[in-house]
Amino acid sequence: MKVFKEEKHNIFKILSEAISEGIVIVNQNQEVVTSNDAADKMFGYNREELLGQNLSILIPKNYRENHHHQVDEFLEKSDPRQMGHGRDLYGQRKDGSVFPVEAGLNPFDIYGSKYVMALVTDISVRKNQELEIIELNLSLEQKIDERTKELKKSIEILREEVAKRKEAEHKMKESLRKERELNELKTKFLSLVSHEFKTPLSGILTSAILVGKYTETDQQDKREKHLKTIQSKVKYLNNILNDFLSIERLESGKANYKFDTVPLSKVVNEVIYNSNMLLKDGQKINYPINIDDITINFDEKILELSLTNLINNAIKYSPEYTIIDVVVTAKKDTVEIKIIDEGMGIPQKEQKFIFNRYFRAENALLDQGTGIGLNIVKSHLENLGGTIKFESEEGKGSTFTISFPTKNNLE
Ligand code: ADP
Repeated sequence: MKVFKEEKHNIFKILSEAISEGIVIVNQNQEVVTSNDAADKMFGYNREELLGQNLSILIPKNYRENHHHQVDEFLEKSDPRQMGHGRDLYGQRKDGSVFPVEAGLNPFDIYGSKYVMALVTDISVRKNQELEIIELNLSLEQKIDERTKELKKSIEILREEVAKRKEAEHKMKESLRKERELNELKTKFLSLVSHEFKTPLSGILTSAILVGKYTETDQQDKREKHLKTIQSKVKYLNNILNDFLSIERLESGKANYKFDTVPLSKVVNEVIYNSNMLLKDGQKINYPINIDDITINFDEKILELSLTNLINNAIKYSPEYTIIDVVVTAKKDTVEIKIIDEGMGIPQKEQKFIFNRYFRAENALLDQGTGIGLNIVKSHLENLGGTIKFESEEGKGSTFTISFPTKNNLE
């Protein structure tokens, strides 16, 4: 076995000790011919201890086979290169422990023999750092993952919170709106009461005073005329109050409906009887025919309120000497009632507003009224599964039609 001659060996030593990488030079048989201190230390050998040893003792067992071929092949090609490209290389210390290395191989010819100089760097620290970086990256990714999840959760909670707040805000606005509407209603009520009650009340007063003036026995017809006036005006005021009470109940959701089985004729007769007191000179209400056999199961008070409003409107908005027809048609599960008048009618362009609360058409403003009746009739009827509609021509007359179920299934 050729070992570097003493002199050359020393020169090599001096030169190579200054290098921090380990240097191991092997001959063609892969026997170590020299190594520097850094290499000895790296592999855990004493100075000179490696000399003559086969290179394989520096390589972990399971890599040896492969490595052997590589070096042979390498010696043949004889070009310097970095080993272990794309693979991890390992060195084995004297005590058997394994550590990661990087090795560059440089072949050279000297004294007619081929040698290979291996430059070996212990990359444990770097590997550890790499590992640490990988671990750090992993834990960072995990943290980012966790944070993202937490963030998503927070966003979700925030979204729910926003939705809750929006709902609360909506509720608050809604109750404010209701309160405002109720206040408006009260204000309107007060002004309506003062206006609407004034005329009938002064009429009642006048009639009451006049009644007292007819003291003679034969003046009974005059007394009756004034008493009739008083009665009709009291009825009128009573109807307005009923309408207002209805609004209040509808608004506060306290509209309690009560279903009774009653003959339709009972309700119709009562309403027409009362309305007769309001008729103008020459006005006449035609009773419906063939209603004696019709029995309904419906809220009697609501039907009465609806018919009263419609018939009183027909009277109010029609001139003297006109006819008001009440026509009843019994259908399978519903009853339809039409109130037909020959009055002033409703202007075409105002017809779409007629069921709005407080709305009064232009041509009706000279007559007393509140604009409440139709609105509450519609609300009540719709609450009970019924409908109201109308047809009208200005100057010719109007037909209001209500329809309601005769067998209620709301019970
Ligand atoms: P009010 O009669 O107290 O004004 P309503 O709600 O009963 O209130 O009616 C609303 C409006 O509809 C009336 O002001 C009037 O303009 C119009 N109207 C209702 N019924 C008739 C009718 N039979 N003929 C003409 N106009 C009518």
